[in-house]
Amino acid sequence: MKIIMLGAPGAGKGTQAKMLADRFGIPHVSTGDIFRANIKEGTELGKKAKAYMDAGELVPDELTVDLLIDRIGKEDCANGYILDGFPRTLNQAEKLTEALAESGNIDFAVNVDVPDEAIVVRMSGRRVCPACGASYHIVNIPTKVPGICDRCGAEVVQRKDDNPETVQNRLDVYHEQTQPLIDYYKALGCEVDVDGTQSMQDVFEAIVARLEA
Ligand code: AMP
Repeated sequence: MKIIMLGAPGAGKGTQAKMLADRFGIPHVSTGDIFRANIKEGTELGKKAKAYMDAGELVPDELTVDLLIDRIGKEDCANGYILDGFPRTLNQAEKLTEALAESGNIDFAVNVDVPDEAIVVRMSGRRVCPACGASYHIVNIPTKVPGICDRCGAEVVQRKDDNPETVQNRLDVYHEQTQPLIDYYKALGCEVDVDGTQSMQDVFEAIVARLEA
């Protein structure tokens, strides 16, 4: 099964993608995670991507499309995958459709729908573990010990691009460049809308019910 997670930054795509990956036994592929890993390792790609990410802008398609297409060509993706954060532009979606011409296009594009006001609250409270990638929220999903990752014990941090100005910029970029993909996948007949304001578990169950229907 090939699944795309659509929805604004902070809508909970990443959390749901990880839960779906566990449920269906297929990899969770996040372009944001790939870029962050490259920044951490100090690669050329990481150096190029960092300035765009810190400003809440999209990393140019030249740096993103081939990277993703190469990733989903790996053996662990043979039975499907969950894409989180890709595609983000119409050009990326078209390139993905082209790349999947032979193997078959994606099965579901899940739109996790959350209004902007709720997104701002969520992102300002989001905390992530720089060591293992676990994601928390100071109110909704707090760590058991304040500031310490439940999973690995490292100190959790706020992502640099979760500060208020950058969040607003990311939302503007989302509305301009990524939201049109909802119509793109509707036209392909594989778009599924889910109310992302429900609890994490309810969102997950709503998605699974739609995928298994
Ligand atoms: P995310 O973790 O998905 O919120 O992504 C964090 C940042 O990485 C985004 O704000 C972009 O700067 C960059 N990024 C991730 N995926 C893409 C993509 N498909 N196209 C362009 N930039 C991306």
